[in-house]
Amino acid sequence: MNHAFPCGTPALDFVGTLRARRNAAPLEKLDSDAMLDAWFIEAGLVDEAPGAAGSDRDSAIELREAIYDVVTARRLGENLPAHAVDIVNVHAAEVPIGVRLDGLDPTAVRVRRGGTIRQGLAALARQTVEIVGGEEAALLRECARPECTQVYLDRSRGHRREWCAMKTCGNRVKASKFRERHRPDA
Ligand SMILES: [Zn+2]
Repeated sequence: MNHAFPCGTPALDFVGTLRARRNAAPLEKLDSDAMLDAWFIEAGLVDEAPGAAGSDRDSAIELREAIYDVVTARRLGENLPAHAVDIVNVHAAEVPIGVRLDGLDPTAVRVRRGGTIRQGLAALARQTVEIVGGEEAALLRECARPECTQVYLDRSRGHRREWCAMKTCGNRVKASKFRERHRPDA
């Protein structure tokens, strides 16, 4: 796996392809067409590489940043940034990734998913519209490990989820708090 999917929500996982976005030098995970293709495959949105080329990566990054700006404003209870909303809406109006039935044998029939990067981005934009404009917007959180900046939906019971992923961020914060408590000079 080249990419991480801690959120269980593709549009928000996609935002996480710019890691540690408030650092002086954030980590860009969509640094090649191959990495963009890999994201859609690893996310389970397509079965075959969408074939990123030309300006696809610029569009993907533009949409990603628009999604981040919109969900962040929504999370903070602020007015949504109009330019970012326009970008999300333009992509959401396009044809999303297609599905088809593959196989006639009842024991082998399965769903095949496929499309271009544009269609992949349309799927992510539509999901963003549903989240930000729907009731789940109230569940938008940002990971409590300050450096992380991953946004997720807290669908946990009681809504006390603090981390994008316990395996990574939760354990790292706990380990550093433990080290602080047990420093010899503390
Ligand atoms: Zn995190």
